[in-house]
Amino acid sequence: MTEEEKTALRDRILDRSVEVEVRIEQLREATQPISPDKGLGRLTRLEAMQDKSVNEAALQRLLDESTRLHNALMNIMQPDFGNCQNCGQAISIERLQAVPTSSLCMECA
Ligand SMILES: [Zn+2]
Repeated sequence: MTEEEKTALRDRILDRSVEVEVRIEQLREATQPISPDKGLGRLTRLEAMQDKSVNEAALQRLLDESTRLHNALMNIMQPDFGNCQNCGQAISIERLQAVPTSSLCMECA
């Protein structure tokens, strides 16, 4: 991987991190406890509770992704960044661009 590719990838990870952080904030709001007397507009309380559990699942996925992005940013500084953690082969740049948090090559994933 060239330094240029590495820089582009780091920018991509940073951009995605920002998106994820914004979304996490929104979902944290959306997963606040629902107070029984709160005006819910057109949503019934049951619908609100269903939404809440969907949002909680989405929040959990984003928190996981946030951790992986954070790790990827730490790893990108390491000399062996971009190598498969299983077989040690270089992970293709296309794969890393599509999924910057990949730690396995196409064959091992
Ligand atoms: Zn591999």
